[in-house]
Amino acid sequence: MANFQRVTELHHLIHQYNHQYYVLDEPSVPDVEYDRLMRELITIELEDPSLKSLDSPSQKVGGEALKAFTQVTHQVPMLSLDNVFSDDEWQAFVKRIHDRLVSDKVFEICAEPKLDGLAVSLRYEQGVLVQAATRGDGAVGENITENVRTIKSIPLKLIGDDYPSVLEVRGEVFMPKSSFDALNEQALKKGEKAFANPRNAAAGSLRQLDSKITAKRNLAFYVYGVGFIGDSNQNLSSEGIQITNKYNEDWLSNSHYQRLCQLKKLGLPMCPEVKLLKGSDLVDAFYQNILKLREQLSYEIDGTVFKVDDIALQSKLGFVARAPRWAMAYKFPAQEETTQLLDVDFQVGRTGAITPVARLNPIFVGGVTVSNATLHNQDEIDRLGIKINDFVTIRRAGDVIPQIVSVQLHKRPENAADIIFPATCPVCDSEVLRAEGEAVLRCTGGLFCAAQRKEAIKHFASRKALDVDGLGDKLVEQLVDEKLISTPADLFRLTELDVSIMERMGKKSAANLISGLVNARKTTLPKFVYSLGIREVGETTASNLAHYFLTFEAIKLASEEQLQKVPDVGAIVARNIIHFFKQQHNIDVVNDLETIMTWPIIEKKSADQQPLLDKTFVITGTLSQMGRNEAKAALQSLGAKVSGSVSVKTHYLVAGEKAGSKLTKALDLGVEVLNEDDLVDLLNEHGVTA
Ligand code: NAD
Repeated sequence: MANFQRVTELHHLIHQYNHQYYVLDEPSVPDVEYDRLMRELITIELEDPSLKSLDSPSQKVGGEALKAFTQVTHQVPMLSLDNVFSDDEWQAFVKRIHDRLVSDKVFEICAEPKLDGLAVSLRYEQGVLVQAATRGDGAVGENITENVRTIKSIPLKLIGDDYPSVLEVRGEVFMPKSSFDALNEQALKKGEKAFANPRNAAAGSLRQLDSKITAKRNLAFYVYGVGFIGDSNQNLSSEGIQITNKYNEDWLSNSHYQRLCQLKKLGLPMCPEVKLLKGSDLVDAFYQNILKLREQLSYEIDGTVFKVDDIALQSKLGFVARAPRWAMAYKFPAQEETTQLLDVDFQVGRTGAITPVARLNPIFVGGVTVSNATLHNQDEIDRLGIKINDFVTIRRAGDVIPQIVSVQLHKRPENAADIIFPATCPVCDSEVLRAEGEAVLRCTGGLFCAAQRKEAIKHFASRKALDVDGLGDKLVEQLVDEKLISTPADLFRLTELDVSIMERMGKKSAANLISGLVNARKTTLPKFVYSLGIREVGETTASNLAHYFLTFEAIKLASEEQLQKVPDVGAIVARNIIHFFKQQHNIDVVNDLETIMTWPIIEKKSADQQPLLDKTFVITGTLSQMGRNEAKAALQSLGAKVSGSVSVKTHYLVAGEKAGSKLTKALDLGVEVLNEDDLVDLLNEHGVTA
């Protein structure tokens, strides 16, 4: 009874997944999960054959022909393949063949990559492609002739004249990896849904009612078998041409491999990796080799296919309900699996970026056990629509880091919970900030936060900042790891003894470092401001801040509005500065540093020296006598603010050659426009030569 119930459940699930995969081209679970369900069903049916009904999914080729297309009844059914995942299963298959043939004789095997696309049959009459069809349910497929005609590697006419009047071949239409990536990139840009994998992309592209769309999708084709040759039923082609049938099966080689070579000569592309193996003991080497090649191949594969090469033996072995007995797919370990999102942790990176990291129920996928995956940022969480406790499809291909591909919404549990970003840094409790236009959330406690400590101290001591002699990046890391320092201020409390016990530190280098630190105590205000590592406050901005406000105290207390008056400081930088000085943690370290360090007072430039104070310039186009940066620096040295965009607040637009939209906007707004000569005159007037 329990088994009966499970069989009913399995039928229901497999039918549902078949529909999503074959009809909608949008699978909701990874293949491996589908394969597990199918295997479970087959095992139950083997144990208790009374549970095997005629409508069982195990007895049918998955898929169905969409009504939107005209239907094609296959003259010879198009079957699926059985599959194995291990050497034991493979050996059992070989044994079954020997048993059925009642022979121990070694048989040759045609070894092929298992292309991850969809099966099509192509019918040539008098060498001309007259019909192309999908597999459908194996008996009836969809007529996709117009779409297939757009695939460049499929010949519309066979080469030469040595072919049967009716030749129906089978092969795989697939989407090369590069086309798949480009297609998905485009879809994401347009805010459309991306395809789950190249197989679904190929199927979705081929089953289009408008062949112009198929033509744009860059599909490809490899042939892997013959379906039918000879006469059509009434010696008439589908277009009514009388067929002279001088060929019969004798035209075809008795070797599957040689048949493929024959088809290749007619212009049908054959996969270059196909090999003829002398016996089944060579199968493993072929499999391993293709597995190794997998990443480099220009098309996606999900395993290998091995076929008894001798056609006479194939005929003896025959078929079961949905697959031939003479072929077997030996699939690669799954690259996609299902697991559950248990929780989300927030990690703080070296630069303060806060990254949500998915804690997953550990799962073996792509050859390793995966228990974490990055969720990148809020945008990615929104795109996936993911919640805690959701079941997700996780992918790990090659050496690429594991990623969450999709959420299995149909399995969403009742306790699914929203992922909430922390309001303060999980490491140092400082405020977190998401800059406008940026997806990333950042901690603002740069000087104090343990996660950012090493980077902050390295920056503080770097050449353009305090330039501490003898303090390299490695030493900073050691000092932090040994807990001898945790903020830049701690550097100045180090003793020779502390330093001399560090790895590769002699007495002399320890003494050098301490004297380097003593020298570094004397600096300049611009260097000090730069050394604090405030986000987006580089050397120039630090210098502009220092010269505008003159004292450190004034910079600390400046409002957002005042900050924006400083040349080079826009809304984002102003906000970064405000938030940096709002954190008590940073203030504590800064106060500490202020008691240790000194810098000379900056004399206020007289109004004469700052004649362009409060004037905002925008520079556009190409300047011939100086670079744009030079022009900017020259204007700033006279107190001007140089902004990137024209607005009502702009006083002058400097327009070089080929000025475009900024010039139009300036003219619209009535902003005064200077050409390059006007600019040079203005600078010369104030004694500046650029
Ligand atoms: P299959 O893909 O396992 O094997 C048969 C197919 O392999 C053929 O029809 C042909 O298209 C292809 N093939 C590729 N290279 C070939 C070669 N060299 N020679 C012969 N055939 C070759 O079987 P299927 O019936 O098309 O699909 C079943 C599989 O599809 C399942 O095992 C599962 O992995 C996947 N599936 C997944 C879902 C899901 O929800 N994720 C649902 C249905 C099916």
